[in-house]
Amino acid sequence: MMLQFSEVVKVFEELEKVSSGNKMRVILASFFKNCPLKSIDKVAYFSLGQIASKYEDINTGMADKMVVKAIASASKNSEEVITNYYKKSGDIGETAEHFIGNVKSKLSVDAVFDQFHKIAKLSGAGSQYKKIILLSDLLKNCSSKEAKYVTKIILGTLRLGVGDMTVLDSLAITFTGKKENKKILEHAYNICPDVGVIAKTIASKGIKGIKSIDVVLGRPIQMMLAQRISNIQIIKEKIPGKIAAEEKYDGERVQIHISGKKIVLFSRRLENTTHQFPDIVRELKKTIKTKNCIIEGEIVPIDPKGNLLPFQTLMQRKRKYEVEKYTKKVPICVYLFDILFLNNKSFLRRNYLERREALEKIVKESKIVQLAKQTICNDIECVEEFFNKSLERGCEGILAKSCATDSVYQAGTRGWNWIKWKREYSKELIDTFDLVVVGAFHGRGRRSGKYGALLCAVYNDEQDQFETLCKLGSGFTDVQLAELPKKMKQYVVSKKPARVIANKDMNPDVWFEPKVVVEVLGAEITRSPMHTCAEKEGRGFALRFPRLVRYRPDKKPEQATTAREIKNLSIA
Ligand code: AMP
Repeated sequence: MMLQFSEVVKVFEELEKVSSGNKMRVILASFFKNCPLKSIDKVAYFSLGQIASKYEDINTGMADKMVVKAIASASKNSEEVITNYYKKSGDIGETAEHFIGNVKSKLSVDAVFDQFHKIAKLSGAGSQYKKIILLSDLLKNCSSKEAKYVTKIILGTLRLGVGDMTVLDSLAITFTGKKENKKILEHAYNICPDVGVIAKTIASKGIKGIKSIDVVLGRPIQMMLAQRISNIQIIKEKIPGKIAAEEKYDGERVQIHISGKKIVLFSRRLENTTHQFPDIVRELKKTIKTKNCIIEGEIVPIDPKGNLLPFQTLMQRKRKYEVEKYTKKVPICVYLFDILFLNNKSFLRRNYLERREALEKIVKESKIVQLAKQTICNDIECVEEFFNKSLERGCEGILAKSCATDSVYQAGTRGWNWIKWKREYSKELIDTFDLVVVGAFHGRGRRSGKYGALLCAVYNDEQDQFETLCKLGSGFTDVQLAELPKKMKQYVVSKKPARVIANKDMNPDVWFEPKVVVEVLGAEITRSPMHTCAEKEGRGFALRFPRLVRYRPDKKPEQATTAREIKNLSIA
């Protein structure tokens, strides 16, 4: 059976109308039920507005001007006519819907998917022109509504409000009958963060197949996270035995996959960042004494003597062009701290000491590739001494790691096997939080024409939803304030996204699809009826005196501070 693309479009239209996360899951679940096995992974990607898993780095490489050209060619209109309409409507989908669609469509999901991938594969000289032709050919066979979604997926601007977790929930409902089974799917997703593979596996092999999903070299693993505490003594309570104190570097987390000569780097968002760090790749080839492993570390900027520099310096390395030139301008090094896979074996279930030993064996240290500095402690005094030394070296603090037999690598989990202790906590300044921007209020007076404040939310990872924590209005520079509306424009949606939970009296002037993460410094956590973070009896947690510290482009919205973390902190 061939699944028609028009069927998918019908479901997308329904999804766009709903305002509750649960309804969204029910709609997706009933659709998955009737999906042929062959197409289920494709539908899963499409519902996220993607054509492949993010880590695969497969992009159509089309800008809106090229899509305008394709619409013009397919509808036999001049480019000018299409451009004018697009300028007025501001929406490429609406533009395509208006001009395309004189046919009765017979397009299958697989045909659309294949055409997207053909477009993505084209590169080099003349490829822009060929991409336009391929898209135009596809549009000629689309109905109006289909054209709307095709162009949105091509440009990556489809905003249904569906996230990876929403898809997992729906798959659990469809194939196991119970939403509770999502835990098993989530566990598999942490090792294989590819909803297409998960969808196909559960549809063909059920829960048993899901349980046997394992590490694959080249496919990133969700990174293990650290808990936070409010008092250093808590480390001893949470880690009763030996504690490995490791320097905490303030840079960019990296997961390195080495397979023969091929080296791939993944960011914390699991995006392929190999092209950004050719210097690290070259050095890894010289310093890693095995041809087959997955290791993790933190990339940090250094001065010519090898001293650590502030995180901000690293931002200059986020570039598409002049990458090589900047390897000299902004030197970096990587501090390795974990190993997840070696010689075709998963190391996830090995304890910390075994993993560290294996890591030490395969690394020949150099100035650019180093092992995270570490010491094994029996008591808190030792941990504190190491912490003070780490600060002197320019680190932002330490990680205290359990050495117990069960100190396994908990992919995608924020457990008590890793605890972070930072300079800010020790000075009793309050901590920073990574929050998701979900709305904005228009500014007044000096800020008129700009945003006056942003509505920020935490992620509730149990419910797969975003719950508001504060209104953020300070800490912005004038330039940041002026640029905000432009920066956020692409995420504006016409109503509150289904997965955002806000008090009915919290009415921002603009709602955003949860995409942008900001790091926010706060002074106190209180209860408030206005916010919905870990809400109980009509009162959620709220952050007082929030200030913007920086944007966190390295974090996905689902990697923001969780509602549970805020709840734990307020109790501690
Ligand atoms: P945070 O981003 O504040 O939640 O702190 C956890 C992050 O610290 C990790 O995701 C790593 O990017 C970073 N980090 C720096 N040094 C280490 C280390 N030695 N072990 C683990 N994570 C580290």
